[in-house]
Amino acid sequence: MKKQYAVIGLGRFGSSIASTLFEAGNEVLGIDINEERVEKFKDCVTYAVVADSTEEEALKAVGIRNFDTVIVAIGNDIQASILAVLVLKELGIKQVIAKALNKRHGQVLYKVGADWVVFPERDMGERVAHHLMSPNVLDFIELAKDYSIEEVKVPMSMTGKSLKELDLRAKFNLSVIAINSRGNIHISPSPDQMIKEDDVLVVIGRNEDLKRFANLQ
Ligand code: ATP
Repeated sequence: MKKQYAVIGLGRFGSSIASTLFEAGNEVLGIDINEERVEKFKDCVTYAVVADSTEEEALKAVGIRNFDTVIVAIGNDIQASILAVLVLKELGIKQVIAKALNKRHGQVLYKVGADWVVFPERDMGERVAHHLMSPNVLDFIELAKDYSIEEVKVPMSMTGKSLKELDLRAKFNLSVIAINSRGNIHISPSPDQMIKEDDVLVVIGRNEDLKRFANLQ
């Protein structure tokens, strides 16, 4: 479904969010205080305008109140990012997502009303480190402090066996929720499903069990 988004700050982070949303068919308003940035990204969004997002009147003038979701992708100017979130929440924007540079910045953004704060550098750093330590883990979602869902490349020693034979539930306390077999996704696979080379298992469980499994060869 086509949705409307506004992205404030067209740096690397903001422009990447804006163009991804736009390419997926959504209506995207891009806002930046810097005219050159607006000029550079005008073809990657539906509309691009110059405005200072710390000024309520400027945001009203560009019709920000028509948007349910606004992303504040200003980072370095911490004061500007906090003020922008404050103004947007005061204007009644339902969902405000903001980028934080560090933990303190994030806490303040939540205090002034941000609905979701993202830490792109910290999160990407964690992902890279995880991948370096466990190259078989292609991606993961942290569900709670100790639990995750991971996409794990099957170790060679497991190919040619069925899920029942592998019995990951008994051996690792893990559940296989899907198998990606060269692009064919099997959701809730049956116990008789055979594991082939290059298959990717989507498994859920405790982080320490996932780690034991992902480090098998
Ligand atoms: P990135 O890390 O995403 O590349 P950056 O290093 O270019 O960002 P940031 O300080 O995070 O720099 O700013 C992102 C964008 O936000 C810049 O293009 C900047 O012009 C814009 N910006 C900064 N302050 C405001 C403001 N008050 N109103 C609107 N846009 C702003």
